[in-house]
Amino acid sequence: MSGVLGGRVGSAGLVVVGAGVAGLRVVQGVRREGYDGPVSVIGAETHLPYDRPPLSKQVLTGELGAVAAEYHGRDYFRDLGVTMLTGAQVSAVDVSARVLSVQLDGSSVAEQVPFDALVVATGARPRRLPCAVPPRGVHVVRTVEDSAALYAELLTGPKVVVVGGGFIGAEVASSARSLGLDVTVLEAARSPMERAIGPVVARSLSGLHELNGVSLRCGAGVTGIVGGDRVEGVVLDDGSAIAADVVVVGVGVVPDVEWLSGSGLPLGDGLECDQFLRAGSDVVFGVGDAVSWPNAAVGGVRMRSQQWTTAGDQGAHAARVLVHGSQVAGPFGHDMYFWSDQYGVKIQGAGVFAGDVEVVEERPDLSRLVSAYRQGELVRGAVTVNAPKQFRRLRKMIGSREPWSEAVEFAPAAAVLGGGEVR
Ligand SMILES: Cc1cc2nc3c(=O)[nH]c(=O)nc-3n(C[C@H](O)[C@H](O)[C@H](O)COP(=O)(O)OP(=O)(O)OC[C@H]3O[C@@H](n4cnc5c(N)ncnc54)[C@H](O)[C@@H]3O)c2cc1C
Repeated sequence: MSGVLGGRVGSAGLVVVGAGVAGLRVVQGVRREGYDGPVSVIGAETHLPYDRPPLSKQVLTGELGAVAAEYHGRDYFRDLGVTMLTGAQVSAVDVSARVLSVQLDGSSVAEQVPFDALVVATGARPRRLPCAVPPRGVHVVRTVEDSAALYAELLTGPKVVVVGGGFIGAEVASSARSLGLDVTVLEAARSPMERAIGPVVARSLSGLHELNGVSLRCGAGVTGIVGGDRVEGVVLDDGSAIAADVVVVGVGVVPDVEWLSGSGLPLGDGLECDQFLRAGSDVVFGVGDAVSWPNAAVGGVRMRSQQWTTAGDQGAHAARVLVHGSQVAGPFGHDMYFWSDQYGVKIQGAGVFAGDVEVVEERPDLSRLVSAYRQGELVRGAVTVNAPKQFRRLRKMIGSREPWSEAVEFAPAAAVLGGGEVR
C-alpha cells in the first residue's frame, strides 16, 4: 500500500466532509480496500446519507413518502467502524495544521477536528434567482425537506410555474402534471436541457412537455417574482407576467465550497482536483458535485459532474488512491452517465454531447428515441429514451475504437430521421 492511508497513519485518520453519496462511497471504499484506521464523516444535514434522485420524482408524485431514503442505518456505519457526525457544519480548514473547524448541533462555538487525510464531499446547493422572492410559495429541490415542503403545496392544487427546464425542472414539471396540475415551464434557452445535451436532442425531448399537457415557453428570461407574503406570479423579460400559486426554481446548482476560501486549496468551478482527485495537497481529496477534475475519459478536459453515478464512482476511486496511491489507482475517467425519469419515460445519456448528432430512431410520441453523437468515425456520446439495450451498446462504444457504422447498425432503417448538426 502506498497511498496516504496505506502506510503509517496518525491517530486522526480519514475525515470526510459531506454525507452524500460521494462521501458514503469514500468510506465504504477505504474499508473495502483494507484501511482499518479511524474514519469519520461530518455532514451538515441531520440525516445519514440518503438518495436524492427520488426527491424530484417519486416523492413529488406521492409514490414515496417525503422522508429521507437513507442508504444505510446507524448500525451499518457502526459495524463499518465509521463515526457519523450529522447536523454538523464545517466552517473552515487549516490544511498545514490538518485541522477542521466544526460547528456541532448548531453551536456557535467551533470545535477543532484533526485529520490525517481529508475528503471534500460537500456537494452543491440550488442557484437562486438574482431577484427578491416572496417568503412563501417559491421552492427549490435539493434536500428531503425541500421536497416535502413542495409536495405539501402541490397537494393543494396550485397553478405551478417551473423556472428552468433542466433535469430537475423537467422532473418537477412531470411530477406536478401527474397530480393533474396546471404547469408552465419557463426556459431561457431555445430548448430545455440544450446546454446539457446539445440542441438537436434537446429540441426533440422538449416535445415531452407539450405531449403531456405542460405549457413550455422557451427564450423566456425571468426578471422578477411578484407577490406579497405569498407568490402571485412571474414576470418575464418581454414584460409579460404569468400567474402562479407555486414557483419552483431549477436554474442549476452552485458547488458548496465557500468554507474552503482562505484555505489555499484551489477553487474555481468548485474545488479543483487533479486527475487522481487530489486537491493541491497529498492529503486533501475532492469528490462529487463540489469538485471539478480533468476527466481522463475525455482527454483530460476539466469538468464538474452533477450526476449521481459520477459522484459515487469518484468516491470509490478516491478511496483507491487514498489507500493504494495514484500509481496503482490511476487517473479517474468517467463517461458522465446520467438518467432522468420524466413523463413515464427513462432518459439515459453518457459521453460528450457535442459533434455531429444523429437521431437514429425517434417515435412521434417520444416513447422511444435513440441518438448518438459522433466525431469523425467514432461515437462520443449517446442519449436514449426507453431504449436500454441500445443505450448499453452505444455506451460501450464511447471511448472505444469501434466505428460509427456499428452504432447505427442495430436501428431499423425505416426510422432513421437523420440529424447532423455541429455545435
Ligand atoms: C432532486 C434531485 C434529483 C436528482 N436526480 C438525479 C437523477 O435522476 N440522475 C442523476 O444522475 N443524478 C440526479 N441527481 C444528482 C445527484 O443526486 C447528485 O449528483 C449527487 O447527490 C451528488 O452527491 P454528492 O455526495 O456530491 O453531494 P450531495 O448529495 O449534495 O451531498 C453533500 C452533503 O454535504 C453537506 N455539506 C455541504 N457543506 C457542508 C459543510 N460545510 N459541512 C458539512 N456538510 C456539508 C450537504 O448538506 C450535503 O448533505 C439529482 C439531484 C437532485 C437534488
